[in-house]
Order: sequence, then C-alpha cells, then structure tokens
Amino acid sequence: MIQLIRGFKDILPGEVELWQQIEKTVCSLLEDFGFKEIRIPIMERTELFARSIGEDTDIVEKEMYTFPDRKGELITLRPEATASVVRSYIQHKLYAKDPVRKFYTIGPMFRRERPQKGRYRQFYQINAEIIGVDSPLADVELIFLLVTLFSRLSVSDVEVHINSLGCPECRPKFKATLTDFLTSSTENLCSDCVIRIYRNPLRVLDCKVPACREAMTDAPSILDYLCPVCSQDFETVKTALEAFKIPFTVDNQLVRGLDYYTRTTFEIQTGSLGAQSAVAGGGRYDGLVKALGGPDIPGTGFAIGVDRLSEITGLNNADYIKAPDIFLAALGEKSQSLAFKWKCALGLEGVKAEMDFGVRSLKSQMKQADRLGAKHVLIIGDNEIKEGAVILRDMTTKAQVSIPIEDIVENIKTKIL
Ligand code: AMP
Repeated sequence: MIQLIRGFKDILPGEVELWQQIEKTVCSLLEDFGFKEIRIPIMERTELFARSIGEDTDIVEKEMYTFPDRKGELITLRPEATASVVRSYIQHKLYAKDPVRKFYTIGPMFRRERPQKGRYRQFYQINAEIIGVDSPLADVELIFLLVTLFSRLSVSDVEVHINSLGCPECRPKFKATLTDFLTSSTENLCSDCVIRIYRNPLRVLDCKVPACREAMTDAPSILDYLCPVCSQDFETVKTALEAFKIPFTVDNQLVRGLDYYTRTTFEIQTGSLGAQSAVAGGGRYDGLVKALGGPDIPGTGFAIGVDRLSEITGLNNADYIKAPDIFLAALGEKSQSLAFKWKCALGLEGVKAEMDFGVRSLKSQMKQADRLGAKHVLIIGDNEIKEGAVILRDMTTKAQVSIPIEDIVENIKTKIL
C-alpha cells in the first residue's frame, strides 16, 4: 500500500470541520477589518524566496522543496506566503491606484523540517498583510486581530511577544556589536551558531540549543541600539497595546527566521504545544517591496499556523459535524425510486437527507440512520405510498407522525426545520 509522505498528513472528515470553523472565523474577522482575499500560486521561482527570505536562513538553506522543472528552471514549493503576495502586488502594479492594500490568504506551505508534534512538512497558514502603511498602528492592528481571533477560537494560554529588529540605519551597528560578542563566546555555541556568527548573527539569538540560550543571556540587546525613529515606533506599539489592555512581553531575542523583517516583530506563543511554542508570528517588512523590484513601499503582516491552532483551540470538533436532518428508509423498489427523488429535492432545499441505496430491512436501515446521527427517519413503504402518506419518526423523542405525500418536501421542511 502506498502511504503518504513523511511529514505530510490528511485532514479527514471528523477533524476538517474544526479547520473549516477556524478558517471561517478568521476570514470573517479579516473581512470585517477590510482585508481582501488574494490567491497566489503554490510554486514560484526559487529566486523569489532566496531573495526575500534570505540565502542564509534555515528555510532557504535547508528546508525548501526546490527542483528543476522539465525545462530546467528552478522552482520551489512555497515555504511561506508573504514573498508571493508582495510579488503579486508588484507584478500587477496594485500600488498604482492606491498603495495601501490589505490582503489575506489561506493555504499550504512546505518546509522540509524534522517532523514532530506541531511541525509538519506541509502545513497550513492564514496570512494577513498590510502593505503601504508606515504607521506602527498597522502592527498594533495585526496584533489586536490575532488576540481577538485567539479569544474567539477559545484558545487560552497564549502570550504576545514583541521585539524590534531596527532598520538599515541602526541594525548594522547592533550586528557588529553582536558579532564581537559572539566571536568571544564561540566555545559556548553549537556548531550551527558558530557558522551563523559570520553569515547571520541575529539567528544565534533565537537558537533553541540550551548551551546557546545560556550563552545568549549576556548578549547585547538590539533595543539598546535602535535609532530614534525605530525607538519611537516601538514605544507607539507598546503604548497602543497597553491602551487595548493587551498583555505582552518584550523579548529582545525574538528575531524570527526570515531576513526581511524590520522594526516591530511579534509572535503569539503558547505553552500547550511543547517545543513548538509559536502559533502565529509576523512583523514589519519595510524593505521587501523595494528589494523585490517594486517602489519603496512599507509592509507588515502575520502568519497563523492553522495546524497548531487546531491543536490548541478550545472549540470542539463534534459541535461542527453536521449529521443528516433526515434519513429516508425505503422498503421496496417503488418506494426506493420515490425516496431517491425526494432525497435530491430535499438537498436542493438545504435539508441534509441520506438514504440506503440497497433495499434492506427496516431494522438495518434504522441502524444506519442511528449510526449517521440522523435526527429524523422517513419510513416509506409500498402500503404507505398507496395510502398517500408516509411516516416521519423523530429519532430523539421516538414520536411518529403521518405526513401526506403531496408536497412532501414542504411537509418535511415544516416538520423538521
Ligand atoms: P513563520 O512563517 O515561520 O513565521 O511561521 C508562522 C507560523 O506558521 C508559526 O507560528 C507556526 O504556527 C506555523 N508553522 C511554521 N512552520 C511550521 C511547520 N513546519 N509545521 C506546522 N506549523 C508551522
């Protein structure tokens, strides 16, 4: 038997209802806040991700599914969505009429990480992006939306972590100081981090290896190096979060794994997922539109991991599974073709109707109705048809009534909906 690929998964009926509910809740809130859906391809030219996420990041270095297509062009299964959204914004000159655009998108992402609980090789994200707004209040809006969503989805045990990564003005100074610090601590760092010192020193700050974490306790803080503009920006974020009574932790080692972030970055973390503590993350990416060949337009956004969210939501999947409204139990050839006609007519009226397509005993059909959780059963025998009325049974109260065949769909609707 052919099994699915390691790190990939099926989302089966019985669990998918929860996913649908999550997506519905998120999309409706985002729509209420003026975000418009954008659908972008699952594959892009490799160069798009290399240039935006950064050559020296874990994602680009080791995790992308990249392969030459039949003509030899390198393409990649997207590891994240922001690069594609920005590419689309530039390619279609969406800034021409109004640079301010708010997008959201839902879909699978692909990273070849080591699979474990909460970490998959194909996982799903809901992304929201605000392009064209310089104000830090756009970052606050995104954090506010995340906190609202987690509350609507009954997720407890989440914490907002924020940091500022500065800008091209102030970050190089910090990077230089950090590199000096790291160079003097190489003996305490893991072998990956020793390489990172020269390639991407910021990444050492959020290495999960305990020895590196320990070594980083005395590391310089980027927050001490922010230029006045970045510093003011970060203050505005903090003040606005306080005004909204959103508790947050300033975490000066939150650097996130993608190079394009500037200024405010944030993560929603939970204690309920073991090692994979981040459920959502994001931040500002002011240089990205320009770096990808567009005008100098700022941006900010977030990505929610739907897999992780579905594992920690307090919502109960059983509440969203829709049982049939009615099961049509036909007891003969003639009643069966009538039942089939009625079943289709009921479906068109939004009544969920099921039936058994083989002619089986009433007892076994009642059992099947029970298994499906049908709320009512319509018993259709050849005698009943002759008499012009069939029996409707309420499966909860066990009460039975006779209803006329004429206008059957309307009769059923008035009795059961
Ligand atoms: P990132 O794009 O790395 O900032 O991740 C944003 C969110 O996507 C994270 O907070 C996770 O919830 C989710 N995520 C990232 N990588 C994975 C993965 N390999 N498996 C499941 N969820 C993931």
